[in-house]
Amino acid sequence: MTIPYNSLRVRVRVAHIVDNYKALCRPGGETIPVIKADAYGHGLIPVARALSAAGAATFAVGTVEEAVALRASGIPGRIVSLLGPIDADQCQALWAYDIIPFVHHPDQLHLLAGVARHMDSSLGVALKCDTGMRRLGFTRKEAAEAARIITAAPGLHVAMLSSHLATADDPEDVDYVAAQIQEFTAIRDTLRKAGLTFQSNLANSAAILAHPEAHFDSCRAGIALYGGNPFHGTPLAHLGQGLKPAMDVATRIVSVHDLAPGQSISYGRTFTAPDSMRVAVVAAGYADAYSRSLSNTGFMLLGDTRAPICGRVCMQLTAVDVSEIPSAKPGDEILLLGGQGDEAITPDDLAEWWGTISYEPLCLLGLNPREYID
Ligand SMILES: *Cc1c(COP(=O)(O)O)cnc(C)c1O
Repeated sequence: MTIPYNSLRVRVRVAHIVDNYKALCRPGGETIPVIKADAYGHGLIPVARALSAAGAATFAVGTVEEAVALRASGIPGRIVSLLGPIDADQCQALWAYDIIPFVHHPDQLHLLAGVARHMDSSLGVALKCDTGMRRLGFTRKEAAEAARIITAAPGLHVAMLSSHLATADDPEDVDYVAAQIQEFTAIRDTLRKAGLTFQSNLANSAAILAHPEAHFDSCRAGIALYGGNPFHGTPLAHLGQGLKPAMDVATRIVSVHDLAPGQSISYGRTFTAPDSMRVAVVAAGYADAYSRSLSNTGFMLLGDTRAPICGRVCMQLTAVDVSEIPSAKPGDEILLLGGQGDEAITPDDLAEWWGTISYEPLCLLGLNPREYID
């Protein structure tokens, strides 16, 4: 058991994730929820259960261990491991728990083929191709040979062809998306001509929203499921407008006191009160995955008013300006993320202050103790 060292509470509304999932489903194609990294901090199994009840038939997780945990929870449907196996034990688990691995390297294929020889059933694999990310995957030149090795191995077959887009969320770089689609289509057509049948997916959230030509017969939806708008701050922001954030992060005020003009607060004296003001000292800091980069830039939500952060975020304490909120008192709940109404702090707002993308605050704040609400 871990010792409870903080007062943060992460509250997840799985109903909002289900609403986002429904909004991301397209007639005639499958939308595969990406629930890697503990469902971007929202909780692997509760999120999978809710999406399964809403009709999701395939789930994409990261590690083989996550896939095993999901299968052991009794979830029906296909489970894909985006990272795939890296040793023989993980290969064994693929058969034992009926998991489709992404495969991206010939060494992995040989490892799998070795294990497959001792198995009675055939394992479907997802052939991961590199169409431009230059991270993992078989190139157009290598893909046909990889497919041949899989098909030749008794106990393996190609169930899926996948690749990942590098710039789908950048309205300035649609040419690169088009080039990746073209490359992907060429690989798909080559494998089809070789007589293989498989599902094809290329699109992430951004491409689901903005690039119908990248949809093929299935798509992999991640951040948009959790209410992050991949086009936040761009001219295409309207495409993600209706998505509903599903995570609130709450903590409490520890102390409220006044600052006289000229008094500074917190380490390094990076904030000095210009006039008489009142600050609340809040139980949250970088030990709770509330980034120190929010120092002097972020806001918290108290009631329906945003309170600006004053000075450095510390390990477990952060000060906010509550001069405009006279009712603020110790013990009050204050939100680091979420809330209702116009002043609610969205994952994209928090990410912007944090200097990152919405994925990171969700994954990190989601490491804190979680509860589920309606
Ligand atoms: C994480 C991931 C996704 C989901 O991407 P989003 O931008 O969150 O929608 C899709 N495909 C792969 C391979 C991924 O690793």
